[in-house]
Amino acid sequence: MKEKLDAIRKEAIQKMEQADTLDKLNEIRVAYLGKKGELTEVLKGMKDVSKEDRPKVGALVNDTRNALESKLESVRAKLTLKVREAKMKAEVIDVTLPAKKNNMGHSHPNTVALEEIERIFVGMGYEVVEGPEVEYDYYNFEALNIPANHPAKDEQDTFYVNDKIVLRTQTSPVQVRIMEQGKLPIRVIAPGRVFRSDEVDATHSPSFHQIEGLVIDKGVTFADLKGTLAQWAVEMFGPETKVKFRPHHFPFTEPSAEVDVTCFKCGGKGCRMCKGSGWIEILGCGMVHPKVLKMSGINPDEYSGFAFGLGLERIALLKYEIDDMRLLYDNDIRFLKQF
Ligand SMILES: [Zn+2]
Repeated sequence: MKEKLDAIRKEAIQKMEQADTLDKLNEIRVAYLGKKGELTEVLKGMKDVSKEDRPKVGALVNDTRNALESKLESVRAKLTLKVREAKMKAEVIDVTLPAKKNNMGHSHPNTVALEEIERIFVGMGYEVVEGPEVEYDYYNFEALNIPANHPAKDEQDTFYVNDKIVLRTQTSPVQVRIMEQGKLPIRVIAPGRVFRSDEVDATHSPSFHQIEGLVIDKGVTFADLKGTLAQWAVEMFGPETKVKFRPHHFPFTEPSAEVDVTCFKCGGKGCRMCKGSGWIEILGCGMVHPKVLKMSGINPDEYSGFAFGLGLERIALLKYEIDDMRLLYDNDIRFLKQF
């Protein structure tokens, strides 16, 4: 019995020392110490050992088991360390390698122009508000003093969803919705997408963006409108910028004007961009029509106000000297990367 145990111990330890992976070590453990392992088989033979020899043999078996288990533990620790070292070596990071460059995008020219305009007006105390793009005919036309037979409602210009609902042709309905809330005074700008049934060309698109401004308070005059837009033009296009108001007609304002700014390319001398005139047409504006105030529940004898509206794309095209509006929507990365 003793020789048999010694032989098992010697053989097992030798095999363990040769094991070079944890899997192989585990196979050896099962072969000797497992349920059907060699040492267990020896224990099964204990019943044939005489009663007086049993304690001695039992001690020998335990001794062998302990020896094998402690050897197993030490080899396992060694192999585990080896595996970890190999893993560390494989995962080593070379900090001197050049970094991978992320492809960062940036804001679209429209967004850049919008954020610039919003920044200026918010700085003057305006609030930025938004309204629905699918709008009631009433808000888009009637409440803005554009009655049913007005040519602006023509199917040529307007996408009708049904008799009462349209894709808004301007951001002005937002003004009506704000006035109807009845909180006075009002000082807001309303940027957003608008829709016209236009063919696509260098200066037209069926979908584009407007920004409208509205101020309603007691004692607001045309001088306030002029001062506000002159200050905006200076901040937007540079300190030398002057504004010019030309009389115009809009149904929802009275009096109304179109506003030109001195050409920011030539400073007013005349160039290709301003077609030699020195001026660039930039927006429409006027004093809110008393009828519009009345329709929105505001007393025109007590309150007055002004409104203005400009095309965002036009500002972006001018600011970046882009000569075709379609380029803004083509999503050509080579084009967009320039701004
Ligand atoms: Zn010019």
